[in-house]
Amino acid sequence: MKTLSELIAEGVEGRRVLVRADLNVPLDGDKITDDGRVRASVPTIKKLADAGAKVIVAAHLGRPKGEPDPKFSLAPVATRLGELLGIEVPLAPDTTQLTNGGVALLENIRFDPRETSKDDAEREAFADELAALADAFVSDGFGVVHRKQASVYDVAKKLPAYVGELVEAELKVLRKLTDDLERPYVVVLGGAKVSDKLGVIANLLTKVDRLLIGGGMAYTFLKAQGHEVGNSLLQEDQLEQVKGFLAEADKRGVELVLPVDVLAATEFAADADYADVDAAAIPADRMGLDIGPASRELFAAKLADAKTVFWNGPMGVFEFDSFSGGTRAVAEALIKSDAFTVVGGGDSAAAVRALGLPEDGFSHISTGGGASLEFLEGKELPGISVLES
Ligand code: ADP
Ligand code: MG
Repeated sequence: MKTLSELIAEGVEGRRVLVRADLNVPLDGDKITDDGRVRASVPTIKKLADAGAKVIVAAHLGRPKGEPDPKFSLAPVATRLGELLGIEVPLAPDTTQLTNGGVALLENIRFDPRETSKDDAEREAFADELAALADAFVSDGFGVVHRKQASVYDVAKKLPAYVGELVEAELKVLRKLTDDLERPYVVVLGGAKVSDKLGVIANLLTKVDRLLIGGGMAYTFLKAQGHEVGNSLLQEDQLEQVKGFLAEADKRGVELVLPVDVLAATEFAADADYADVDAAAIPADRMGLDIGPASRELFAAKLADAKTVFWNGPMGVFEFDSFSGGTRAVAEALIKSDAFTVVGGGDSAAAVRALGLPEDGFSHISTGGGASLEFLEGKELPGISVLES
């Protein structure tokens, strides 16, 4: 893979460089609620601009339906990026107007349906248009490198392509989790759906010493153990697979740790009534929205002697104050730990910041949820392999 430093060493003064960044931030109206991904994208863009390149940034926001939709405009992101760079960043500009050291942001790349098309020819036609804007391509959107999309994959075949600093740093950390890691290796998984994470669970069972499961996915595991889970999130169609995971963990001597108590609420709401109940005794008319105090202690204890930790997925509905305690407890256990600690997952990373926890308390907070999970699953990431060829 050719690196950003190599591109800069070649000389970029006056050259047009297309940077694919991941600026997919959560918005509340037109306000960015967590700018982590914008900040993470700055170093690569700034290095290029400082070296005199004309920097054209491509990114997506949300899932527009392949046509312009003001709800998904990158306008707030252009403003924030400009603030962080200390220069004005025009949105959807005529890129021929860029001066040396200037930065422009293209409007949401997913406004064009060809970006995510399954049809190779359609994607390639769009990639040709993108390639025509620039002389070189830098892949720095780690959150999208697992996608075979025009601005991630196809365009890299049409221009001299380089890996950006963010992607390089993310890969370095993930390799540390797969190559010669220090044990005990403990993984904490949470989040909403077990089906999103089946592949990674199967793979992790061959690697970890301990697997702690919280969040919405814990209820499918509890049910697979024969417990009733009331109205909690349950993926009935995944039960057989999850039973297989329980058996596999047993066979391999992987310690699989589930919540022992949960905060069972009357409804899915910030102000819902709730009680701490035994995980084996969730009332039929209640739903578990967080792991309980005993589970928090148990999880912290299971993390205490770890030398390597990967955490993906909140332990509860952290967006509601009452149900953020489990996520906070796991985050604090990681901060306290002297292990190599990696947080992966958009919502997990956002939770760390939303709860006001120090980002530098972790060895690394990944900007890419799906991408880091697919890497750990051992899958090939198209946006990376295209840079290697
Ligand atoms: P990440 O983006 O970190 O990979 P996910 O997207 O898998 O995480 O899951 C995050 C979501 O899971 C959060 O919005 C959170 O509210 C939700 N969640 C966590 N625990 C529960 C639960 N017990 N019931 C319902 N939703 C939950
Ligand atoms: Mg998520």
